[in-house]
Amino acid sequence: MNRMKLKEQVWRANMDLAKHNLVILTWGNVSGCDRNEGIVAIKPSGISYDELMPDDIVILDLEGNIVEGALNPSSDTPAHLELYKSFEEISAVTHTHSEYATIFAQAGREIPCLGTTHADYFHGPVPVTRQILKKEVEEDYEVNTGRVIIERFSELNPLEMPAVLVAGHGPFTWGRTPDEAVKNSVALEKVAKMAWGTLLLNRECERIPGYLLKKHHQRRHGPDAYYGQKKRSKE
Ligand SMILES: [Zn+2]
Repeated sequence: MNRMKLKEQVWRANMDLAKHNLVILTWGNVSGCDRNEGIVAIKPSGISYDELMPDDIVILDLEGNIVEGALNPSSDTPAHLELYKSFEEISAVTHTHSEYATIFAQAGREIPCLGTTHADYFHGPVPVTRQILKKEVEEDYEVNTGRVIIERFSELNPLEMPAVLVAGHGPFTWGRTPDEAVKNSVALEKVAKMAWGTLLLNRECERIPGYLLKKHHQRRHGPDAYYGQKKRSKE
């Protein structure tokens, strides 16, 4: 993929975060990775969404060296790079402080799977990390934010669970494209809001059964997925 195309995809994905009301001020960022070229495009630091232009998107290598762009990359860049290095299946990362997902993160609570809307996107409860330690914050805060996420995923598949809540902070989501990573953020926020309301009405409500969770996830994401439109072969 040429660099301009990657920058445009990442720019559009960042603008979509604002369009979906997942960010205010400068509280969020999307990056996209071109695995063949070994480069990452990310939102610049401290630029508000109404000023952001495709050419402002910064390109780095996976070690964090700037390859192209006049502005400084998002301060969260090292966390994104850690995720790309560990989760080889993903090519885009989104970070927001969207309200309901952040409420769960601040409460240190995973989002339980209470319905099929959740199961369509997330295969099981959305996990929450441990709190980051003082020495991890002092040493290299953003790198270690990425590392606490990776530690939480030691037994999870990042494509089956494309989201995490960083305790006391907020959500990260990811996907195979910037657009998919943003859609996962939109879904996560809605699922968090619905779980919050459901738990208010019934704190003891049941998690959906495993067979229903599996059915909903597989019909969208499994090898024989049949949700949505596919071209039928001509007979
Ligand atoms: Zn943050």
